Amino acid sequence: MPDPLKTIALRIDGKAFAVTLRARIGAAAADFAHAVARRPGLAVVLVGDDAASQVYVGAKARACEEAGIASFEHRLPAATSGAELLTLVERLNRDPEVDGILVQLPLPEGLDEQAVIAAIDPDKDVDGFHVINAGRLAVGQQGFVPCTPLGCLMLLQDHHGDLSGLEAVVIGRSNIVGKPMAQLLTDANATVTLAHSRTKNLAEVVRRADIVVAAVGRPEMVRGDWIKPGATVIDVGINRLPPTDDKPKGRLVGDVAYAEAAEVAGAITPVPGGVGPMTIAVLLRNTLVAAHRHAGLEPPEGL
Ligand code: NDP
Repeated sequence: MPDPLKTIALRIDGKAFAVTLRARIGAAAADFAHAVARRPGLAVVLVGDDAASQVYVGAKARACEEAGIASFEHRLPAATSGAELLTLVERLNRDPEVDGILVQLPLPEGLDEQAVIAAIDPDKDVDGFHVINAGRLAVGQQGFVPCTPLGCLMLLQDHHGDLSGLEAVVIGRSNIVGKPMAQLLTDANATVTLAHSRTKNLAEVVRRADIVVAAVGRPEMVRGDWIKPGATVIDVGINRLPPTDDKPKGRLVGDVAYAEAAEVAGAITPVPGGVGPMTIAVLLRNTLVAAHRHAGLEPPEGL
């Protein structure tokens, strides 16, 4: 007998949200181009031939063009030296057509990622990875916030409105997702716990949460019985399972056991189609904001 009290969570459609956001960015980019006689510009630097990075860079360039943002692609061989890469970054820092600079990570072995990120002008660091931008976020100054956590915050605010007083548990403390996510939720007046691999009784900790953000990189680690009934679950994880006969490329799953969690949660993001599409949309948003700041214009409201 099916349980008549059992509900299925609302599916938070990040793909649809990202489409709407990208359309709004496109309209604002057109207004910008009209006002200053140039399009906002994003420079994307790819070093080496990592297959996944090629796909990401291609997707970013296409998304830029669709939104009316100029995309300047720089594809360099894997043998590029650190000095050559830094010279390119410095040239892009000075280029008035370039509002945002993104160096696709990971870099090939032998190149110092931290040194390259440190060389990017913080006001063009639309990935929000520069320590200056991490510091600005920490002390509440205007800067750039990493795209994935900002996208998660947008989905949460769209679903909940005000997050004040809600208990949030972020699982994962990386510099690009977990830590900035915890900071953004704190700034939005949630009460935040930042959990990680040393957290004791993780299931108990997660069970307190009105909002769970999972950014771990472990397939389906967060189980349905960890979720407080009615909680909102944001699944950042992207994990590919080993190939099977019916899925020769392997199924993509998140860090949350979706089917189980959806029986308990109030709302949940799917994988794929949840957080993933938000990351590129927010990259475009950050580039548009950078362009406005460089031109001395107020960035459009609500983006
Ligand atoms: P990292 O590997 O940098 O960080 C993983 C974090 O998870 C660490 O803080 C680690 O803790 C914690 N962790 C690992 N195992 C456990 C465990 N058993 N219990 C609790 N915490 C644990 O990953 P990222 O933050 O870069 O990415 C996380 C996931 O999000 C990945 O699946 C990645 O593919 C995905 N991702 C998706 C994006 C998107 O666009 N949707 C963008 C970026 C990432 P500790 O610090 O103690 O080691």
